[in-house]
Amino acid sequence: MAKYTRLRGTTDFIPPQSEILRSTENKITETIKTFGFREIITPTLERKALFTRSIGETTDIVEKEMFSFKDKGGREVVLRPEGTAPVVRAYVEEGIYGRQKFVRYFYRGSFFRYEKPQAGREREFHQIGVEVLGCRSPYLDAEIIYLGVKILETLAIKDFTLELGSVGCLQDRKAFVEKLKVSLGNRVDLLCKDCKRRTEQNPLRIFDCKVKECRKLAEHLPSLLDNLCNDCKNHLHKVENTLKELHVRYHLHPHLVRGLDYYTGITFEFQHNLLGAQNTILAGGRYDNLVEEIGGAYTPACGFALGLERILLALKEEGKTPADRNGIQAFACYVSEKEFLPAFCLTQELRKRGITSDLDYSGKNLKHQLKSANRVKAKYSVILGEDEIKEGKVLLKNMDTGEQKLLSKEEAIEIIKQ
Ligand code: ATP
Ligand code: MG
Repeated sequence: MAKYTRLRGTTDFIPPQSEILRSTENKITETIKTFGFREIITPTLERKALFTRSIGETTDIVEKEMFSFKDKGGREVVLRPEGTAPVVRAYVEEGIYGRQKFVRYFYRGSFFRYEKPQAGREREFHQIGVEVLGCRSPYLDAEIIYLGVKILETLAIKDFTLELGSVGCLQDRKAFVEKLKVSLGNRVDLLCKDCKRRTEQNPLRIFDCKVKECRKLAEHLPSLLDNLCNDCKNHLHKVENTLKELHVRYHLHPHLVRGLDYYTGITFEFQHNLLGAQNTILAGGRYDNLVEEIGGAYTPACGFALGLERILLALKEEGKTPADRNGIQAFACYVSEKEFLPAFCLTQELRKRGITSDLDYSGKNLKHQLKSANRVKAKYSVILGEDEIKEGKVLLKNMDTGEQKLLSKEEAIEIIKQ
């Protein structure tokens, strides 16, 4: 038994898992950049109040899931549970909205929620998200949904469904909540403890509840989509038409409220069909009032976040996990102890020339060293013996074919680089 173990719901990413995570992350961010997004990096620690206000006091994240504590100065701080509120805080705090009316930012990093750990649900997880601030156009909603499609396409993820909804503007929501309360009537008793408690303050939370009874009841409650004002209805139609133009298939969802209260208007979720209960791989929507809520001037905005762990699970389910690619191109070997230092220096030179290389420090014989080369899946071994050094040459061994050639160092480097 290890003396120290990692905390529940956290992960050690050991190679090749770490490399798979990073290469997937890079593919995603490259796609995001082609849409004009630039990276924003905000702190991992934030003030608690930022999230209690913006995400909503009666959401699960705020009520139950925040890693919060008092720092030594008595400040209430949290490990960030999501990325949108920090981006908006920075946008307001740094006065960006005074200089630049329209910005596209993306972020990536670790996020923290004290949830019950299970497949696709960690306490520390990785998200990549995009936020567009300063635009109300429905074309933009359609565009970021399209970006979601493009990301999944880049990763060759195919088996997903796009759910599209709208929670309407603040007035729509107010009216809908009243309608909902009436429609719920005495069926409130059938709800789970949390939903029952929240019916007065925030009955919309029912639609994000994971409890079976609540989900069943929710199906028979009025649709948010039937309750939209003309503006919100038109906005949704324009998004739909644009998606059709882009050949994006979607399904209209009557109750897509999501886990955060700041959404206004369009919401969407990409769900993977082969994942179990935690099947949402990418999700977002419009949040036109959040900038004002956080102290800035009215700035309409929209965005999404994807969960990297769930993307990796989806890739695995589709049998598309990237192969374990070991990076060693050349492994330097020494025939006897005397050639160790020349081999050591050769390794440094290969690295300087951009060739990934290593050598065996054990001082054991050549056979052992070649085994080490195989273990790290080296493409070539560069062998130095007394004769090679005398002639100013190296013996280049192709580790796949076993073919060996006596070459000058430069010739060998040329071949390794190919
Ligand atoms: P869910 O309904 O699955 O809990 P959410 O509404 O909490 O999702 P968001 O806050 O919008 O989701 O987060 C965006 C994405 O981040 C999710 O779609 C998911 O892929 C990922 N995600 C959220 N929470 C976790 C977690 N605890 N562990 C791993 N991934 C997560
Ligand atoms: Mg959640």
